[in-house]
Amino acid sequence: MTVNNKNIVEKNETELNVNAYDVGLCVDKELTDEEKFNFCKNAWSLVASYKFPVLKQGNQNRSFQLDWLRRYHWLTYSELKEGGFCKFCVLFAPTGVGKGCQVLKMFVKEPFNNYKKAPELLKHHAITQYHLLASEKSSAFIQNYKTCRSVKVMFCQ
Ligand SMILES: [Zn+2]
Repeated sequence: MTVNNKNIVEKNETELNVNAYDVGLCVDKELTDEEKFNFCKNAWSLVASYKFPVLKQGNQNRSFQLDWLRRYHWLTYSELKEGGFCKFCVLFAPTGVGKGCQVLKMFVKEPFNNYKKAPELLKHHAITQYHLLASEKSSAFIQNYKTCRSVKVMFCQ
């Protein structure tokens, strides 16, 4: 894994007035454990009335479906990047996988916005090995983070 130590804060992100827990903010960023924990627990959950942008794909207008968020608990929508991301993979997947260390794109580094193929793409992502590993890592991380915090609290009293 390469250490990506970019300390450049992109000013235009704040101007968009995006939700502080928009997972798009984590893409390609190094996060502290506390930030990771907060994103795991609070990744932006949308209200039913949210209007997803409509994209013209082929000769049909398509948009992100709220129902996908209900069906796939790992999925989250990024307003900043205008598409779906896997919150586990954004936070915990390796930089690259398989032969030649292929860079993970859709759901991880790039938004999922090929809505025409949504059923296949969502199902496929859910069974990829890196996704299963990333979701295991995230539950272990949450567990561990909570334990460490309670240990710290105990020692502080
Ligand atoms: Zn994933």
